[in-house]
Amino acid sequence: MEISTDRVVSIHYTLRDDAQVELDSSRDTDPLLYLHGHSQIVPGLERALAGKKTGDKILASIQPEDGYGDYDSQLTSSVARKQFPKGVSLNVGEMFEFSNAQGEPVVVRIAAIDADTVTVDANHPLAGKVLHFDVEIVDVRSATKEELAHGHAHPGDGYSH
Ligand code: ZN
Repeated sequence: MEISTDRVVSIHYTLRDDAQVELDSSRDTDPLLYLHGHSQIVPGLERALAGKKTGDKILASIQPEDGYGDYDSQLTSSVARKQFPKGVSLNVGEMFEFSNAQGEPVVVRIAAIDADTVTVDANHPLAGKVLHFDVEIVDVRSATKEELAHGHAHPGDGYSH
């Protein structure tokens, strides 16, 4: 079966950056399951997979605009160290969730720390990066009515939530 809108697709993938450093992979776990055509994976990868079928293997290099977007330097800010909970150890590179001025949760990465301030970066960790995907299509099937109603794929029969 070919990959098209409203089909449930299982893939194994390895994601590498320009330096061929592995950033992420499904190979040590279950395949990634997604509902095609519903923007559940980055747009460039979704386009590259359309029309492929079970057993196909593809290599796709995806520019930031079709991946996680360009890096936006406006999305970094300095936060007073005392705004972080006491006793929490802060380390560069760690992800941290806090509330913005509107009270919405924002996930940020700690970019720098000095005595009084912490520089946080709300860009997606993969923003600005060219993504090199090595993908094997494991399975393609029609979505169930329930999956279409929910707008996402369900792993296996009898899955409920
Ligand atoms: Zn569901």
